[in-house]
Amino acid sequence: MRQFKTESKKLLDLMINSIYTNKEIFLRELISNASDAVDKLNFKSLQDPSVKLDQGDLAIRVSFDKDARTITISDNGIGMTAEELERNLGTIAHSGSEEFKTENAEQQGSDVDIIGQFGVGFYSAFMVASHVKVVSRAYGEDTAHVWESDGLEGYTIEDGERAEHGTDVILTLRENEKLDADGEAETYDRFLTEWGLKSLIQQYSNYVRYPIQMMVSKSRQKPKPEDAGDDYKPEYEDYQELETINSMTPIWKKRSSDVEQKDYNEFYKSTFHDFDDPARTISFHAEGTLEYDALLFVPGRAPFDLYSKDYEKGLALYSSNVLIMEKCDDLLPDYYNFVRGVVDSADVTLNISRETLQQNRQLKAIAKRVEKKITADLEDMRDNDREAYEKFFENFGRGLKYGIYSSYGMKADELADLLLFWSAKEQKMITLAEYAKGMPEDQKAIYYAAGDSRERLAKMPVVKGVLERGYDVLC
Ligand code: ADP
Repeated sequence: MRQFKTESKKLLDLMINSIYTNKEIFLRELISNASDAVDKLNFKSLQDPSVKLDQGDLAIRVSFDKDARTITISDNGIGMTAEELERNLGTIAHSGSEEFKTENAEQQGSDVDIIGQFGVGFYSAFMVASHVKVVSRAYGEDTAHVWESDGLEGYTIEDGERAEHGTDVILTLRENEKLDADGEAETYDRFLTEWGLKSLIQQYSNYVRYPIQMMVSKSRQKPKPEDAGDDYKPEYEDYQELETINSMTPIWKKRSSDVEQKDYNEFYKSTFHDFDDPARTISFHAEGTLEYDALLFVPGRAPFDLYSKDYEKGLALYSSNVLIMEKCDDLLPDYYNFVRGVVDSADVTLNISRETLQQNRQLKAIAKRVEKKITADLEDMRDNDREAYEKFFENFGRGLKYGIYSSYGMKADELADLLLFWSAKEQKMITLAEYAKGMPEDQKAIYYAAGDSRERLAKMPVVKGVLERGYDVLC
C-alpha cells in the first residue's frame, strides 16, 4: 500500500466529510476527465500520423450494476501508465494545488470553499464511493494497470488487463446513511438507476463533445406472428440498447438567444471545475474573412492561485471540434487573466506548434476582439449592475490596476474607468468619472489618499480638511 501525500489526505478528508450536499457532481467531474483523456488522444493523432484513430469510435460509457452497487465510467482516451496513475491519482499535485496548505484551509472557513477553489476533480468520487478502482491502459502500451483505494490512507497499483487503450473508473457506492436528527439521510441508491444517471448526464454533461453512452431499457412491439388470429393482441418485449445521452453540440456554437443561462452555468462549472456560477457570460460569433465562435466567462470569484506564479491564463482553443490548446495565453491580455472560455475557429491551422501559434496573425485578430468584448461587458456590468460589479472588482480589481501601469500606461485610458475607488465623501465605491462629475466648480484638483485601510485614511487630518472644504477624497 502506498500512502497518499499529506495534502491529498487532507483534501480527501474534506471531501468525504464535507457538509457539501451536492454530491452528484462526482459524475460530471469523472466524465470531464474522460473527455479530456479523449481530447488528448485526438490531439495526439493529429500531430503523430502513426496514431490511427477512428473519430467515430471515440466515446465515453457509463454503466451501473445495482447488485454490486457499482457505477463505471469508461473512456477510450489516452489512458495512464503506472507512473501516471501514481503521479495523477496519488497526489493532488495537479493544477498548482501543492499550495494547498493546512493553514490555508483553516483560515478560509468552510470546507465547500476550499474544495471549490481547487476544483474537485477525481477525488470527488470519494464523496459517493467507499472504494474506487481505476483500470487504465495508456495508448501504445501492451499492459494495463489497476489503481485501487478506499480513499483513506493510501492506494495500491497492480498490473491488470484491458482490451484497448483508455480508462475505466469503477466506483463502489457507499451504503445509504441512516436518518439523522432532521430526518434526512443521503441515499446513494439514487445513483444506481438508469433514470438517475441519465438525468445527471443531461444536467451536467450535456455539452461534452464526445458521445456519452449508456445501455437503456426500451420496450418494443413483437412482430405479429403469421398465424395470428383476429383476436391477436400486440405483445411487447423489453430490450436494452446503447444510447447517446448528451446533446454533443458545442454550446459555444449556439446563439445566446437559444441557450438558457442555467445551461451556460452548467457548462462553465463542468468545464472549468468551478463550484460557483460565473458572474458574466459573453458569447459572440465572428463571420467573414475570419470565422470563429467565442464563449467567455468572468468567474464569480477569484481562483485560489490567481496571484501566484503558477497561475496560467488563457482560453481553450479549438479548431474544427478538436482541442488544440487548453490555455492559449495569446488570446488574453494579462489584466484579463481571470477570464475563462473557449475560442473555436476552423480557420486556425491545425498542425501548429506553440511557436507558430504565437505568430499567428489570426490569433492576434481574435485576441483583439476578445479584449474589446470583455471591456464592453465589464462597462455594461459597471453601469447596469453595480452591486455585481463591486463584487467583481473586489475579486479582480488588482489585475486591472496592474493593467494600467504595466505596458507604460498604454492601456490607461481604456481601463481607467473600470477601476473603483472608495469615496470618503459618499462612503461607497465610485469611478474616477463619477468623482469628476461630483466635483464642485471651484475644485481644481483631484484628491486621493493611499494607505492600509479606509478607516485610517478617514482619520487623517489632511483628508478631514479636504472633506470639510466640500471636496471628495478617493481612498
Ligand atoms: P484535473 O482534472 O483538475 O487535472 P483530477 O484530480 O480530476 O484533476 O485528475 C488528475 C489527473 O489524472 C488529470 O489531470 C489527468 O492527467 C489524470 N486523469 C484523470 N482521469 C483520467 C482519465 N479518465 N484518463 C486519463 N487520465 C486521467
